[in-house]
Amino acid sequence: MELIINRYVIGAIENNTYLIQDNRSKDAVLIDPAAPSRNIQNDIQENNLNLSQIWITHAHFDHIGGVRWFLGQSKVKPSVMIHPLALPLWNNAGGSKDFGFDFDPGKAPDHLVHDGDTLAIGDFSFIVLHTPGHTPGHVTFYCAQEKVAFCGDLIFFHGVGRTDLKGSEPQALIKSITDKIFSLPDDTILYPGHGQSTTVKEEKLHNPFI
Ligand SMILES: [Zn+2]
Ligand SMILES: [Zn+2]
Repeated sequence: MELIINRYVIGAIENNTYLIQDNRSKDAVLIDPAAPSRNIQNDIQENNLNLSQIWITHAHFDHIGGVRWFLGQSKVKPSVMIHPLALPLWNNAGGSKDFGFDFDPGKAPDHLVHDGDTLAIGDFSFIVLHTPGHTPGHVTFYCAQEKVAFCGDLIFFHGVGRTDLKGSEPQALIKSITDKIFSLPDDTILYPGHGQSTTVKEEKLHNPFI
């Protein structure tokens, strides 16, 4: 069995949207669909994937901008998973008004996930880690079997998420990184919401913000 991870850079501010699939069962999950993407939808159809879930690391507009579009593409709607503390931001248009525009992300998701919950993609299980700081309802999705973590705007290659936004807490962000990310195995690959992937070890050694 194999977990296949595909990264797409889409949206106005170059977000990473990840399509991950269990190649045995063809079960697939979309993480942070930033914008509508015919390219991603074609890959789902051509590979006969069953897009069963959409996982949201946090509800900033650039991470949820494609949710409504993807829900409209399939007859069997994927479940949208989100932390309850992310709902106010979702319901406030993903914070887009603070950036001078407005958009409608659609109805708020009703599949709520909490710290320690387990989510499955076929044979692979992921743990939900609540990692607040960039936003209060920010989560990371971690797969111990594959040593991969999808960490949204918590930590980047040699960087960290912005903490000057409404609802951000700089100290909480650092605590989330040190407690929840730096406690993972050193060779865990971190897949962030923007930019290239990195590892726990690389950021422990070379991240100038921590
Ligand atoms: Zn963000
Ligand atoms: Zn972002």
